Amino acid sequence: MAKEMAIDNKLKGASQLQKKYIVLSEDDIRARQEQAITEVSSMLSTSRASACIVLRHFNWDVNEVHDSWFADEEKVRKTTGWLKIPVVSDPSLNDNKRLRITCQICFDDYPCNRMFGASCGHLFCRTCLQTYIAMSIKDGSGCLFLRCPEGECSAIVGDELFDALATYDDKLKYCWYLVRSYVKKDVKWCPASDCKYAVEFVADADDSCDVLCECGHSFCWKCTMDAHHPVDCNSVSTAPRVV
Ligand SMILES: [Zn+2]
Ligand SMILES: [Zn+2]
Ligand SMILES: [Zn+2]
Ligand SMILES: [Zn+2]
Repeated sequence: MAKEMAIDNKLKGASQLQKKYIVLSEDDIRARQEQAITEVSSMLSTSRASACIVLRHFNWDVNEVHDSWFADEEKVRKTTGWLKIPVVSDPSLNDNKRLRITCQICFDDYPCNRMFGASCGHLFCRTCLQTYIAMSIKDGSGCLFLRCPEGECSAIVGDELFDALATYDDKLKYCWYLVRSYVKKDVKWCPASDCKYAVEFVADADDSCDVLCECGHSFCWKCTMDAHHPVDCNSVSTAPRVV
């Protein structure tokens, strides 16, 4: 019996040694994001879309969201652009859906029911907001934090507007940026070009942090340069590159 246990422990030790890191696919990351969104939306009693906005600002760290929110809700709302109440609200818009108002980008008039805007209440015509959104997606992952086009307004544009106004291809890009925004203390994306895997380091960083990604690329998890064990990270970054 004791012998069996000893063998068991030895095997356990061996498998733990091997398991220094886990390669995460896009689906794994999405599942983790969904889990975090569920936790935060119930913690703050809010919609999944709002929970997602807050999480991406706090590097998907549920504890950090919790601590920041309960320490200073106003500050979190300000930095994330998640407004509590609209900056402008015109009750007559609800009474008369065909009331014409001026788009503050192109200065043409449109019926208010054909205009779009974020939670702040500033309204713009479809074409102008569509162009604004398309340009931000083209510029890169900053689109995840895009603010209302009205002057100093800090309201975040948010997923619903992207969903309503972006083209199919742009929506795919936006979703990918959202997945890639999942960067944590122990999770890094594989640096190989076009690779869609991330690597989670589960062991304490010891002398070798070389990991092998599913794509076949081998890199040092600590500095993300090509695998370089047993040379340490500092020596690699200062050594002359052999081309
Ligand atoms: Zn316009
Ligand atoms: Zn606004
Ligand atoms: Zn890879
Ligand atoms: Zn390194």
